[in-house]
Amino acid sequence: MDKKTVKDIDVSGKRVLVRVDFNVPLNENGEVVDGTRIEAALPTINYLLSKNCKVILMSHLGRPDGKVEEKLRLTPVAEFLSELLERPVKKADKTVTDEVKTAASNLKEGEILLLENLRFNPGEKKNDPEFAKNLASLADIYVNDAFGAAHRTHASTVGVANYLPAVAGLLLEKEIDNLNGLLENPKKPFIAVLGGNKVSDKVKVIDRLLDVVDGLLTGGGMCFTFLKAKGLNIGNSICQNEELEHAEEMLKKAEKNKVGFYLPKDVVVANELSESANHKVVSVENIPSDQKGLDIGPETISEYKKILATASTIFWNGPMGVFEMKPFENGTREVAQAIVDSKGTTIVGGGDSDAALKKFGLEKTISFISTGGGASLKVLEGAVLPGIEALMDKKKIRCKT
Ligand code: ADP
Ligand code: MG
Repeated sequence: MDKKTVKDIDVSGKRVLVRVDFNVPLNENGEVVDGTRIEAALPTINYLLSKNCKVILMSHLGRPDGKVEEKLRLTPVAEFLSELLERPVKKADKTVTDEVKTAASNLKEGEILLLENLRFNPGEKKNDPEFAKNLASLADIYVNDAFGAAHRTHASTVGVANYLPAVAGLLLEKEIDNLNGLLENPKKPFIAVLGGNKVSDKVKVIDRLLDVVDGLLTGGGMCFTFLKAKGLNIGNSICQNEELEHAEEMLKKAEKNKVGFYLPKDVVVANELSESANHKVVSVENIPSDQKGLDIGPETISEYKKILATASTIFWNGPMGVFEMKPFENGTREVAQAIVDSKGTTIVGGGDSDAALKKFGLEKTISFISTGGGASLKVLEGAVLPGIEALMDKKKIRCKT
């Protein structure tokens, strides 16, 4: 990465404001159900603690829309983090007030303070300069480690970098290095597996990936738009008619680039999206007009498995079917298993793909699982994320005089 990280500057004993992504799922009792994102921030936090920093953490949680929502306080997150670190984590009940400023300035070396949910303040999403300046006033250095929020132009991800020396955290660096590595020098053969429900979410990624992959395997709801673009009758399957033209362009680009663009040969269909619906396997040429495709079929699974077994690099985003329901989980499970069995580098992006891996108990064997769904796709589109652009460059560019 061409941005300075926390290791490129002197942080010893300083007050460091770290934007983390602690946007974790909570259950009805307000307990953290999945702490993966909190664990992912530990390398940066532990590094700062090892340098005797005074650590001030800040994050959003959910979508509270600029006002306090009791259920979205970060208190359970502070408790979870405290257990992980085996040391106290102070928790502020506000984002920035005089009281919080005092708490921040009273921090001793090695102490940690977590601010309240940033999105309780309307200035966060608006990237309000006043709010950003207030956040910056708490510390000497700003670190962005919230990869999952780096595609957002908010006060805590972009604005604050105007007022403090701003560097990347270790998670942010790892995310960018892994994802950029796919675009820059992937070990070949490189196979991408794309599914999920919407073509519109993925079309720019497909476009970029077609420049670097050797094969693209498709499934999920989005493949029906491609099947329709090829002139097939897709029955009642999910389809984005407004994306048909893009779909055709992508199929043409694949042909031009001599990249195998694989669509399912058979699918599991049912007349409704329900766990108890009657379902059967049909070839894609024979989808009944009153049925919808909800998973890839066995012939497709076996073809995809064979291709995945030859890959040295695999990127996966988007489930192959409605994996949340038993009758339609098989394609996602089998493809996930094939990815896990691969001896190559395996990288997964996307919230639902990650959830699928966890459902099948396969998450431990993947080389790298991105913590940012939307942000990971943006990187793979080749976009520059605003939260990264705002950080200091490694090399100072000198102007010729
Ligand atoms: P990710 O979060 O991994 O990027 P997406 O959000 O794009 O994935 O898509 C995940 C959703 O797509 C899942 O909720 C899944 O049920 C849905 N899905 C997969 N296949 C189909 C299908 N054939 N029809 C309708 N929805 C589907
Ligand atoms: Mg999703």
